[in-house]
Amino acid sequence: MGTYSLPDLPYDYSALEPHIDARTMEIHHTKHHQSYVDKLNAAVENLDTPDDVEDLLRNFSSLPDEVKTAVRNQGGGHANHSLFWKIMGPNGGGEPTGEIADAINSAFGSFKEFQDELTNAAANQFGSGWGWLVLDGSGNLRVEARPNQDSPLMDGLTPILGVDVWEHAYYLKYQNRRPEYLQAWWNTVDWNAVNQRFLSVR
Ligand code: MN
Repeated sequence: MGTYSLPDLPYDYSALEPHIDARTMEIHHTKHHQSYVDKLNAAVENLDTPDDVEDLLRNFSSLPDEVKTAVRNQGGGHANHSLFWKIMGPNGGGEPTGEIADAINSAFGSFKEFQDELTNAAANQFGSGWGWLVLDGSGNLRVEARPNQDSPLMDGLTPILGVDVWEHAYYLKYQNRRPEYLQAWWNTVDWNAVNQRFLSVR
């Protein structure tokens, strides 16, 4: 056992079908995410690390140089996927409600404009990476993309929701058709969960 552990999915592997297939979800959770957790634990076993991987990434610059690459990749992978599972759900899709809806309208003009911006950022991320809705230190929302498993937390930004555009997230069902996956992915977003995340970090 290490410091960090794989969180249970809050729904079944088949819960996001037809948008994300059960086999992809199972491999993604039990193989890819588990691997990030295991490699992170191996890398930090001799360090006194915070229990919350998000705190580990917030303090990235103060870590010893010899663990930075592992924390960036494996710690980022653990944090990114932990959030990803939470902001999706079987009754997802539609438009946001609550305070996150007001904040998105205020920052982007409309939900549609936000949706287009995040879709484009994720579609145009070259190679593996993520598209993000982040909150900056001044309380402003914006869309960003990041390569690999780089977490916005390392840059002082708080991720509110993210979409994984590594091929392992969609290849079985969508092959090379990332835009089609992204269009389907919007139907999995649990806006109540996103709103809770927003309220807990803003
Ligand atoms: Mn992934």
